[in-house]
Amino acid sequence: MTKKEKLKKLKEKMLKADLPLKKGATTLVFGHGNENAEMMFIGEGPGYWEDLKGLPFVGNAGVLLNKLLGLIGIKREEVFITNVVHYRPPNNRDPMPEELEAFGEYLDEMIRIIDPKVIVTLGRFSMAKFIPGVYISAVHGKPHQVKWDGKNILVIPMYHPAASLRNGQILKKEKEDFMRLPKLLEEFGGTKQTSYYTNE
Ligand code: URA
Repeated sequence: MTKKEKLKKLKEKMLKADLPLKKGATTLVFGHGNENAEMMFIGEGPGYWEDLKGLPFVGNAGVLLNKLLGLIGIKREEVFITNVVHYRPPNNRDPMPEELEAFGEYLDEMIRIIDPKVIVTLGRFSMAKFIPGVYISAVHGKPHQVKWDGKNILVIPMYHPAASLRNGQILKKEKEDFMRLPKLLEEFGGTKQTSYYTNE
């Protein structure tokens, strides 16, 4: 089975599953981008626009994420983007531990399929999945070698773009952190991406 087929199957499984937050949401926000990406971005959860469109990071935070990627010459179609929860929490509240756990097995499967070299976590919830017990203010932008599911992944914790939209100081730091990404990917990653996973 190709990666694209595996992702499609996983999405179908998620759509059928009795997952938390499903009742109050419009649609599943699975993930989007290049299934052969070496870099995967993991945010928190869908907001208003993501819930309506079924795509991650398409609201204000997404516009900023696109700009941050643009700063380093990367199009969002070249990377894979998803979240730690895949249905919108009511009023954009923080995801709860049992929700993170319920979506966790699907996110883990998504990571196994994409098999990225680098994971950029956006915000504290996705950071805590790989690097527990730290403050984002202390570790943002710093690469962490993480042994995940038997393989080495470079995890780079970043501020959530929504935090940058609220605070100019954080935006400045996030821009600096993004500017360091290409070198880190070059050191840890390598080859070109070719194909593209669409949401159909
Ligand atoms: N914020 C997130 O964490 N994820 C999205 O998809 C959109 C906004």
